[in-house]
Amino acid sequence: MDSKILNFYAFNSARYEVVKDKWNDVNLEIYYHKGHEFNLDRMMKGMKASLDYNSKNFSPYQHKQLRIVEFPRTGGGFAQSFPNTIPFSEAIGFIADVDDTKEGGVDYPFAITVHEVAHQWWAHQVIGADVLGATMLSESASEYVSLKVLEHQQGKSKMRKFLKDALDRYLLSRTTETKREKALMYNDGQGYIRYQKGSLVFYALSDYIGEENMNNALKKYVEKVKFQEAPYTTSIDMVNHFRAATPDSLQYVIKDMFETVTLYRNRIVDVTSTELDNGKFEVEIEFNVSKYRNDEKGKRYYGEKVGDTISYKTDKMNKPILSVPLADYIDIGIFTEVEVDGEKNEIELYLKKHKITNINNKITIIVDEKPTEVGVDPYNKLIDTQSEDNRRRL
Ligand SMILES: [Zn+2]
Repeated sequence: MDSKILNFYAFNSARYEVVKDKWNDVNLEIYYHKGHEFNLDRMMKGMKASLDYNSKNFSPYQHKQLRIVEFPRTGGGFAQSFPNTIPFSEAIGFIADVDDTKEGGVDYPFAITVHEVAHQWWAHQVIGADVLGATMLSESASEYVSLKVLEHQQGKSKMRKFLKDALDRYLLSRTTETKREKALMYNDGQGYIRYQKGSLVFYALSDYIGEENMNNALKKYVEKVKFQEAPYTTSIDMVNHFRAATPDSLQYVIKDMFETVTLYRNRIVDVTSTELDNGKFEVEIEFNVSKYRNDEKGKRYYGEKVGDTISYKTDKMNKPILSVPLADYIDIGIFTEVEVDGEKNEIELYLKKHKITNINNKITIIVDEKPTEVGVDPYNKLIDTQSEDNRRRL
């Protein structure tokens, strides 16, 4: 190497074919097993997209080349990012049969490549101390980059499938936790926290405070700590950079997402739509918003500290619903469908964050076209214990 690197590298040896390309002055190479050409284009595209996003938003790429090196699936089904070199299992990219026409499908050779290349920043420039929360700096940040690149490529409205998948995997995995679940910034390294919860939280924060603002905060952080030697940085430093970039009205988001284990229980209760004389539609939506916190062992509480409770409010059936006091900004969405070439496409008629201070809410919104579906947090950006009832068809 011609620069300092982590003492962390891989040996790979095989009879390889090589495909080469360039990104600015950087040599891009994929070393692959002859016959495994299926997804080389997707992976090459992923290398470029990740180099673009990370270098544009955070700091320059530090090496003169970037290499992906195939290894057989008998060695495992993973990819791992070493300085400028990424061993990549045939099982998770090279021999994947990606069908772009299938609704709900994910181009994972592309998405995984973006994630692994992002580690050149988030593990190899920002090197976390070996303490609780360290994987937030590497895995959550790399997964965030992967989601943002997908968002730029596919559009915001296609993100629900990625977010809902992450949410469902987080919710399912936490039910089998046998040790303890700590907040994201102090997590114990569990995969479902550092990947699934981490990607949701980083994505939601970029939605709340703006992608540019969030990336500027990350850029300042990278400038401060990159290629640092001991004592290494921790998640506290990264979260402080987020906090500084977050307005007062949204500081609760930092507490909920990073510092505590906070879960929403949002749902549509009722919806009606009436056509008006002028051809527009009046949509009346009744919905609940509530949230609770869990301590490490999964015990619920509703205040600032473990053990705190608050007085409860009742829903319209007079059943009590508890919640942490609310002053939360929540997306309310109204959608319609248009058919193009026999395929139904969802169109946003309305999407806006509303400030919610009550558990029970009723709002009226006027839209230009006939709505077919409404939702509270309809894209599942928030951690919600039951995401299925966030939307209701009319
Ligand atoms: Zn990773």
